[in-house]
Amino acid sequence: MRYYSPSLFNAFNICKRQSWLMSRQLSADQYNEFLEIGRLIDEATFKRQRKRIYLADLEAILDMVVKGKDLFYIAEIKKSSKTLKSGIFQLKYYLFLIKIKKGIKAIGLIKIPKEKISKEVLVTEEDEDKIIDVLMEMERVLSQEVPPKVDIEVKRCKNCAHFEFCWS
Ligand code: SF4
Repeated sequence: MRYYSPSLFNAFNICKRQSWLMSRQLSADQYNEFLEIGRLIDEATFKRQRKRIYLADLEAILDMVVKGKDLFYIAEIKKSSKTLKSGIFQLKYYLFLIKIKKGIKAIGLIKIPKEKISKEVLVTEEDEDKIIDVLMEMERVLSQEVPPKVDIEVKRCKNCAHFEFCWS
């Protein structure tokens, strides 16, 4: 099974076409950021409990990692609860990846400081099945020669970096 970066995974759950375009690096903004941070921070940083951790082999940027007594806590910090649902699923994917690829069991925390929200996130077996289904679907869609057609309303595309690929 192929494991994709959390940003591609998250994009896929919002818009498959965006994920396809990102997979071809047709808008490389985020990837450039990953690459740059990756040069500065390596995997060893994970152990130092620094904020904004980059895990190079997972292509994942974690907002915060805290080592508890027996467990790691991985926090994702959001600006608002608007994207809470997709944020929770993305965090579950982080936890899944860390377990599968590193053998580390962690608990997730979604934090929205402005709204004073702090929510614990765990990955159930059902979540893992759902993640695997998404990964299989990603493999099918992202290997296609052409991107999926636009199938969402233009108002949801306003802030998308790929707007010009879809609407001009
Ligand atoms: S502009 Fe809209 S349809 Fe195109 S990739 Fe972005 S979100 Fe998807």
